[in-house]
Amino acid sequence: MGKKSASASFADLGVSPEILRAVDDMGFEEPSPIQLQTIPQLLDGRDLVGQAQTGTGKTAAFAIPLLMRLQARRGWPQVLVMTPTRELAIQVAEEFARVGRYTNTRVLPVYGGQSIGRQIKTLQRGVDVVVGTPGRVLDHLNRKTLRLEQLQAVVLDEADEMLDMGFIDDIESILNATPPSRQTLLFSATIPGPIARLAEKYMRTPVHVSINPEYVAAPDIWQVYYELRNIDHLEALCRILDAEAVERAIIFCRTKRRVDELAEALRSRGYSADHIHGDLEQNQRNRVMGAFREGEIDLLVATDVAARGIDVQNISHVINYDCPQDPESYVHRIGRTGRAGRTGTAITLVYPKELPLLRTIQRLVKVRIERHPIPSLADVV
Ligand code: ADP
Ligand code: MG
Repeated sequence: MGKKSASASFADLGVSPEILRAVDDMGFEEPSPIQLQTIPQLLDGRDLVGQAQTGTGKTAAFAIPLLMRLQARRGWPQVLVMTPTRELAIQVAEEFARVGRYTNTRVLPVYGGQSIGRQIKTLQRGVDVVVGTPGRVLDHLNRKTLRLEQLQAVVLDEADEMLDMGFIDDIESILNATPPSRQTLLFSATIPGPIARLAEKYMRTPVHVSINPEYVAAPDIWQVYYELRNIDHLEALCRILDAEAVERAIIFCRTKRRVDELAEALRSRGYSADHIHGDLEQNQRNRVMGAFREGEIDLLVATDVAARGIDVQNISHVINYDCPQDPESYVHRIGRTGRAGRTGTAITLVYPKELPLLRTIQRLVKVRIERHPIPSLADVV
């Protein structure tokens, strides 16, 4: 991913043959920097705090060693991963299942909006790895349909996002229900105070691994902005979509309402577009994500929260229809493209009054965002 260097292979890190085979099927040629640094530590059973931005391969960094440490099948889960959103729970569960395909690992995502009865049935049949949002995990704990007495490892994925979403108390209740002997992992793009305190309270002399932000996704992403002067948002977007020959893009809007309106406006102009946000039913969100992943839709219009952590291959463009309000949101959004060493383009539409905001983002993210003129009608093919 990103820069290549002569470095250890997965086999050099001590990865087992079954998992090497799975990783090979997934097309991973060599470990990413965070994987290089975390896999050996986690195989040793250490607690770990990993700080790295999106698209750096964190999921496999913990899935590989945790799957290797699983005991022969037990009734109750041995690994619990908590994620901020349902989509991320599904995605992390899928990655676990892929890495664990030759070790017969039973993985279950649990999240709100999906029938709890079905989740309970699967839990009763026996599951090795549970990946879930804190609310639903706690719900199962309270119903005693999930028991964590035999848990070996717990992962807090995107911990800063879980904090922002108000999950901190749920997370503490869940951690308190796990055995003190467990291995504890925490991954976060940033480590604000409450996350540092959580680590202090629940981890045993954790190893800290951080990947220099300059190393990650950003160098593979070409970043540009268009200034909106004397032109409306929608018109500017459509000209850019046409002139840039955008194939597969996520388009971010500030509010759910703007997401609805933009998706509708794009469809009425003949674009292949659909949308996701938190007010849609879970099965609807899954359906739209599936269609986007399969290439049945070209443009996915989304809010920040709905698109958080989503990993879809071959997204050519990320478009900020509304300028993100802070650098973290910018980094998260553009991290949807240029993943795993592929190149991508990030486009931001800004009003003149938002230019100071864009400059702040640029300074903090340490990237150059190039200014481009809005294509004229003559440029549109
Ligand atoms: P993060 O959690 O850091 O945002 P992910 O774990 O979602 O990143 O990984 C981003 C993408 O990179 C996924 O599609 C994943 O399958 C892929 N990936 C992970 N590790 C490697 C690797 N070593 N080589 C190639 N691709 C990888
Ligand atoms: Mg991740």
